Amino acid sequence: MSKVLIIGAGGVGRVVTYKCAQQPQVFSEILLASRTQSKCDVIVADVKRDTGHQKISTARVDADNVPELVQLIRSFQPVMIINVALPYQDLTIMDACLETGVHYLDTANYEPKDVAKFEYSWQWAYQDRFREKGLLAVLGCGFDPGVTGVFTARAAKHFFDEIHYLDIIDANAGDHGKAFATNFNPEINIREITQKGRYYENGQWVETEPHEISKMINYPDIGPKKSYLIYHEELESLVKHFPSIKRARFWMTFGDEYLTHLRVIQNIGMAGIEPVKFKGVDIVPLEFLKAVLPDPGELGENYTGQTSIGCRASGLKDGKARTYYIWNNCSHQAAYQETGAQGVSYTTGVPAALGAKMMLTGKWSGKGVFNVEQFNPDPFLDELGPQGLPWHEQVDINLEMD
Ligand code: NDP
Repeated sequence: MSKVLIIGAGGVGRVVTYKCAQQPQVFSEILLASRTQSKCDVIVADVKRDTGHQKISTARVDADNVPELVQLIRSFQPVMIINVALPYQDLTIMDACLETGVHYLDTANYEPKDVAKFEYSWQWAYQDRFREKGLLAVLGCGFDPGVTGVFTARAAKHFFDEIHYLDIIDANAGDHGKAFATNFNPEINIREITQKGRYYENGQWVETEPHEISKMINYPDIGPKKSYLIYHEELESLVKHFPSIKRARFWMTFGDEYLTHLRVIQNIGMAGIEPVKFKGVDIVPLEFLKAVLPDPGELGENYTGQTSIGCRASGLKDGKARTYYIWNNCSHQAAYQETGAQGVSYTTGVPAALGAKMMLTGKWSGKGVFNVEQFNPDPFLDELGPQGLPWHEQVDINLEMD
């Protein structure tokens, strides 16, 4: 029986609140807090109606402001915080956790607002402070990062002595009927996919131009999809925690239409993160763009199709070559019917709530800052399917990933 504070009332916050509320025996009391309290109120009304859990309240908080966070935490006294606001708030929320003695979990690594830069260094630097306080911080517990790390941990624990090659493959074969929309926060999403590509090979990072490398990949129940090599944050922690890896890459599908829109957005300067003066006011183009694009949280109703995310690994077991593929497919419609959110929010929110459950039930424990692949994958994967994200695996198949 534990009190949990969820911060962030976007698509992911909606799913996390549903999933926590479905398990009142673990999450006995829930507070959903965000910058705009009315968004929390809408979510909580739906969750109370659909789950019957009544001990859920809402609050307004500016998570950039540590004293405000500390005040909220002291008044509610949660055991842990599930941070599903934006990556910009990771450090302030971690600071507030340290000040109040509360455990921490998030789904995306910290990014400074003024540089689009993805790395764990800022959050790994909290290791000693969390350890000294006897607190646990779990980083990157969405789907990717998150389940992809747990999948890799399962591969390493049960199928390989050494993983040599790892490819994380992420397809969204959904159709939301809009000319252009992003599946999660547009600002974070566009920053992520317009950066240069990067992969790990033989101890070094190899940089590519954005979307320079692509290949057709066959996704289960979806078929072949053009997939682009992009940098993704879990590559950094996975090559650190599984040092036998010789090459690690991340692939994501993008449609031609989507890339054309993206190219235009970039070419006309709308992806910029430097403020420009407009009628005497400083405006960040990418923030303005977010205001005019469809709200990802509203895409769910007409979203059809599914996502497919998984890990393809090869290496050695008992001196013999071995290949392994583990994946989940998630239907946008099924996600929407259950939670009112589309599949990308669902695949992020389900693992975040499940990671929190692992922490609260002691199945994942420790003092300090951890990435998900450092924990035992088994109890998490035992519950991932029943929680809504069934997974499948195949051994010694042709991975088609050369
Ligand atoms: P949204 O933009 O829909 O929601 C973010 C929420 O955070 C909004 O409610 C927003 O408030 C709130 N927020 C922003 N700034 C503050 C602040 N200073 N104080 C308090 N609240 C704030 O994003 P998503 O729900 O799509 O994504 C949530 C997180 O999940 C992001 O960090 C994203 O990167 C991550 N993610 C991770 C994935 C994974 O697989 N690991 C995949 C997809 C997303 P307001 O409503 O007022 O704007």
